[in-house]
Amino acid sequence: MKTFERLGLSAEILRAIAAEGYTKPTPVQAATIPHVLAGRDVLACAQTGTGKTAAFTLPLLHQLQHSPREHARRIRTLVVTPTRELAAQVESSIKTYGQHLPIRAAVVFGGVGIQPQIRLLRRGVDILVATPGRLLDLANQGELDLSHIQCLVLDEADRMLDMGFIHDIRRIMKLLPEKRQTLLFSATFSKELKRLAGRILRHPEHIEIARNETSHQVEQRVHPVGKSEKRALLAHLIHTGNWRQVLVFTKTKHGANRLSRQLDDDGIKTTAIHGNKSQTARTKALKDFKAGRVRVLVATDIAARGLDIEQLPHVINFELPHVPEDYVHRIGRTGRAGHTGEAVSLVCAEEAGLLHGIERLIQSPILQQVVPGFEPDRAWSDLKDENVTRSKRRARIKKSAAKRENDRGRGAGRPRQGRDATP
Ligand code: AMP
Repeated sequence: MKTFERLGLSAEILRAIAAEGYTKPTPVQAATIPHVLAGRDVLACAQTGTGKTAAFTLPLLHQLQHSPREHARRIRTLVVTPTRELAAQVESSIKTYGQHLPIRAAVVFGGVGIQPQIRLLRRGVDILVATPGRLLDLANQGELDLSHIQCLVLDEADRMLDMGFIHDIRRIMKLLPEKRQTLLFSATFSKELKRLAGRILRHPEHIEIARNETSHQVEQRVHPVGKSEKRALLAHLIHTGNWRQVLVFTKTKHGANRLSRQLDDDGIKTTAIHGNKSQTARTKALKDFKAGRVRVLVATDIAARGLDIEQLPHVINFELPHVPEDYVHRIGRTGRAGHTGEAVSLVCAEEAGLLHGIERLIQSPILQQVVPGFEPDRAWSDLKDENVTRSKRRARIKKSAAKRENDRGRGAGRPRQGRDATP
């Protein structure tokens, strides 16, 4: 069995890992660390929750610890992440694992003042964690010297491409020395990502942590339900299951705000986290959620990147994501590092196509359970009936949507009283 000692990490790093309570490397760590220590480029397919942050942070700290002293306080390692939350998370991991080392880490991202970051950089930094936009701003202002970079890490690279950062990444590449080590982590591999990998990596080691190795800890379930009943069903599940810490995904910021308000009205303390909120509001929301001051955190996909909540037990897809890969990212928030968790999707008939896309991606059907009292409308059962043609299905879905609109206009369709009252 691989141990951290056998991987050859320094005593100071081992001490920090032991204090975190890690007893053995996760599969992605065992596979990645030796290659990073050997100076190889790495292309790793691993989703959040597999321990990927430590997989690159630990060996990079080890390398910095053993690099010549005269290079100290020059940026030698650069980690680029798609979101501020992930950037902050990575920096905090670096500080934890590097607590016994004389290595200075800093994080820079947009949405907050640039001056304190400039001051921080001027004091000298060994490892910089950054989001692409702010990194380029600082470089354009002449506040960043990236000419000493020895290692570049692109974390959650698929998400960076999804967020349209490809041009920023290209610009960043031009600022870096040609001769360097590059590590690329991604949960999924699109054609565009493979192209990027082909351009920036040199003879990389390919590391693939099989999807089922990471998600078997997550029990997945679909509750078919009418669209207008989703909110009542969610409140019902939270109350009856006595769920204390629930991360809920919606498709839109507006939807996240609305659901957060409605759950609050149902007596369930809830807050929302999304791109329209200030960094301070996002940090506070996350802190309140982690501390148990709020029971439900409603998030959009982008805002949820980088959230690392120990032992998060419940992830709810209030709406399925448009991109099936986002489902994998979302459920990666639970069942982390050996803990079990459950991922529950509330799916209405209109989302059947999205569900099929997800099942195709994860190569397995997801268990479906109807919750008594929340039966889906007829459009849903048509989906299973091979004799109902697609056009007929669409017509029925349209008809039930029109009926809902109509009911809403008449004030009907509200949650049945009593069922979702606070106990
Ligand atoms: P990540 O995939 O980097 O977001 O890490 C997911 C979680 O796993 C974090 O909460 C880490 O603290 C934890 N973790 C990382 N490595 C280990 C390990 N070897 N043993 C136990 N937990 C770990």
